[in-house]
Amino acid sequence: MSVVLRVDLDAFAANLARIRAVLGDAQHVLVVKDDAYAHGVGPIVRRAWAEGVRWFGAFDLATGLAVRAALDGEPDAAAARVFVWMLASRAEAVAAIRAGLDIGVGDAALLEDVAAAHAPEVARVHLKIDTGLHRNGVRPEGWAAFVDRALVHERAGAVRVVGVWSHLAEASDAEDDHARAAFDAAASLLEGRFGRRVLRHLSASAASFARPEFRYDLARIGAFAYGIRPPGGPGEDALGVYPIARLEATLDITRTGVASVPVGSLHGLPSTLRAFPVGTAGGRRMLTALGETRSVIESDGLAPGDRVVLFGRGDDGEATATDLAETIGTVGEEIVLRVSPLVPRRYESVSPRR
Ligand SMILES: *Cc1c(COP(=O)(O)O)cnc(C)c1O
Repeated sequence: MSVVLRVDLDAFAANLARIRAVLGDAQHVLVVKDDAYAHGVGPIVRRAWAEGVRWFGAFDLATGLAVRAALDGEPDAAAARVFVWMLASRAEAVAAIRAGLDIGVGDAALLEDVAAAHAPEVARVHLKIDTGLHRNGVRPEGWAAFVDRALVHERAGAVRVVGVWSHLAEASDAEDDHARAAFDAAASLLEGRFGRRVLRHLSASAASFARPEFRYDLARIGAFAYGIRPPGGPGEDALGVYPIARLEATLDITRTGVASVPVGSLHGLPSTLRAFPVGTAGGRRMLTALGETRSVIESDGLAPGDRVVLFGRGDDGEATATDLAETIGTVGEEIVLRVSPLVPRRYESVSPRR
């Protein structure tokens, strides 16, 4: 090992169990976009499947297909529901339908593409209302016409509407309450027109944990599954989820006594961090200079070859990804996501909890 991102899959399983307990009757859609928040989609999906997760939120087609590939050969894998919500073309819609993915549809053009795909399989779609985030989704004033168009396609056998969904800003409770009211109105209109219940889903990590009324049928949760707490929000102990990844490097000490690790900004550590605490077998030390490919570490009491933890769960005195993020005004996901794909991932089962 010189630099490695270690992922503790038992800690991941413990987070999943915690999420299941919090959600109650709602089902967890494990969000695995961006290569499972840089933790590696294959091992994450397989472990989640073994732990009973049956829904995956994959963002784009490539990730959706990667989830299917990860589960290839698992018993009953066809039962996995894989939700994608960023399809770029009609060709992608066809591929998604062929792979049996659930498709989030947030604009009229994509609805037509999906309906026109003429795949042998009927496309399962979740219609998206824009409840204020303005990222995508159909604006409330166009919602009734959009729903009616979907109904036409369903009656023609081209699509099956199975869900209604939106995404929250999570900027303030008041804004989210406003979004939820718009969501409820849109869902009721849809269910009235279709004459049946469909799956409702609205919240991600933060609102799913903090606000029971936001959980509905499905809760799309990424960050908390990886143990990444929100900046400035509740801590790990309050949430009951803990970081599952730690970035490690081996300490080198020159004959003149300069100690460093072979990891720096080119491996993805933000250069704005400059100095921060790291974990070692001897406890917390400071990283005092962050270079491009090497960084200097306070080395008192340490020996060449010792392991240095750049960020992790705090076990050896290191900061968490969110601790580091808070010092430079970003979110923990940003710290983990920047770890270069050239840094190898290693999967292990260490301990379920701190
Ligand atoms: C990323 C994402 C999520 C998960 O958000 P977390 O805060 O990581 O739980 C849920 N839904 C959508 C649409 C997303 O893009």
